[in-house]
Amino acid sequence: MVEKPAHYTPPMASPEISPSPDRPVVTRFAPSPTGNLHIGGARTALYAWVVAQQAKRRVGPFKDHTGGGRFILRFEDTDRARSSTASEKQIAESMLWLGLDWDEGPAIEGVAGHETTTGDHGPYRQSERLPLYHEQLDRLRAAGHVYDDDGAVRFKVTQDVTFVDAVYGTVTVKADDIEDFVIMKRKADGDDLAYPTFHFAVVVDDALMEVTHVIRGVEHLSNTPKHAALYDALGFGRPLWCHTPSIMNPDGSKMSKRDKAKAARKAADQFGWPSCSNVTADDFQPRYAAFKAKESDDAEIASWTLAALGQPIPEIETLDFKQSGYLAKPLLNYLSLLGWNPGNDLERFDLEILIETFDLSRVNKANARFDRDKLLDFNRDAITQLTIPELAAAIDNYDEHDGYRRHLPADKLNWLAEAFHERARTLREIADEAEEYIFDAPARVQDADYESKGAKKWLTKSDDQGLSDLAKAYETLAALDDDFTPDAIETALNTCVQENDMKNLGSVAQPLRMAIRGTPVTPPIHLVLTLIGKGATLRRIDACWQAFKGKGVAEASG
Ligand code: GLU
Repeated sequence: MVEKPAHYTPPMASPEISPSPDRPVVTRFAPSPTGNLHIGGARTALYAWVVAQQAKRRVGPFKDHTGGGRFILRFEDTDRARSSTASEKQIAESMLWLGLDWDEGPAIEGVAGHETTTGDHGPYRQSERLPLYHEQLDRLRAAGHVYDDDGAVRFKVTQDVTFVDAVYGTVTVKADDIEDFVIMKRKADGDDLAYPTFHFAVVVDDALMEVTHVIRGVEHLSNTPKHAALYDALGFGRPLWCHTPSIMNPDGSKMSKRDKAKAARKAADQFGWPSCSNVTADDFQPRYAAFKAKESDDAEIASWTLAALGQPIPEIETLDFKQSGYLAKPLLNYLSLLGWNPGNDLERFDLEILIETFDLSRVNKANARFDRDKLLDFNRDAITQLTIPELAAAIDNYDEHDGYRRHLPADKLNWLAEAFHERARTLREIADEAEEYIFDAPARVQDADYESKGAKKWLTKSDDQGLSDLAKAYETLAALDDDFTPDAIETALNTCVQENDMKNLGSVAQPLRMAIRGTPVTPPIHLVLTLIGKGATLRRIDACWQAFKGKGVAEASG
């Protein structure tokens, strides 16, 4: 043991599970900025964030806690070749989209609210903390815990290590099973100071930042004996470790960004590789060629290929889910359940309930399965629970869909929200449908096609019954002056049904849907027609008549 540094008080006496009630509970998320925020990382960040919230608000397991809480974002960028500021920004934006804001963290250019450093335990990038690691290395050296090895520095492991993990309980590892490990790399040419390894940096940082709960993925469990040995040698009080289970695909494989490449290749086998001759981005062509030749698993190229083939992109990274039109809240709700449950049948809850009920000691060891259908259900229900203005705002803010945004009329947003409120599973579904047949009226008239089963049932059966009813609907709608509102349309269509002795509203609604979309499935028809507008509605009915009767409906009724 070396002498304790003066400024340091251990956050808790190891191996106790609870920190002393009058000291801040400190958690952190410490990603390596070498890629985008994987959804598994987001789940880990969520747990760490929630624990700090519990301590701040004195709820759940921390109801008697008076010391407050802090949540830190720290970038572990010691892998210089692979770290990038673009990745830092993307990780930060992903966390903010989810609502997982941090109390302390680095300055990140271009990220609103975080353009300057917050907190006084910084710097919050490991590459900016080199002198601190060297200070601690000197202490270890003075106490004889390290030796030099070809320019690098190794830590001597002399004792068995026992540590406590909130999920795995007490873990003991024999000294013989832990090799003497490198804690400081060899100094690179041109550098003033050598870089630490992950093991050393993470321990020094967590200790100096007074982190009490190290919450991280289970892949780090096997590193923890080394970390515990370093804590002891440095005289730092140990944190409580909590290793969270991995997130797997339903087939048991690990959820990884390679899944996108797999999906893209499968789609290309089925539909052929899409032409990319009109893509002008600089390095696109060689990257596409390499991807096709299986020389790379480039996730961006994979996503492009899937989009070009009109196939869904398997969401892996946090912003993939945003792009696919998920709302942050149900996503967080679903993520919270990947590795934990509240211990009753409750599955749907908001963040407040999560903060009240979450308990680190109930986190599972077993891997979690990511079930997209279940997530879709969560998302659909969350959409239904929004008010119409809230959904309208969500649709308006959904900026992942170019074509549809160009046509999105601000004055009709509430009606669009009302139309899809009860049926859309994602914002993307709303955007896709809106683009398919609502905001793209001229194209719909030119290339109108009609699903044959629906056409038979709702247009041509019984001597073109549906087409005749459609002609009546046309007259009714044409007679509405500029008052083409949902209420006016609904009233007029109901009158049309009664006056012509039709069976029910479906007698006109279904033929109208066939004319509008080419299938008998749309949101409530009066809302759809309002959104499309009077002129385009009449043109599409006319086009439908042309397709089946060889003449326009006006001609027929006139
Ligand atoms: N930088 C590590 C990672 O991204 C984090 C390790 C930790 O949380 O201690 O996996």
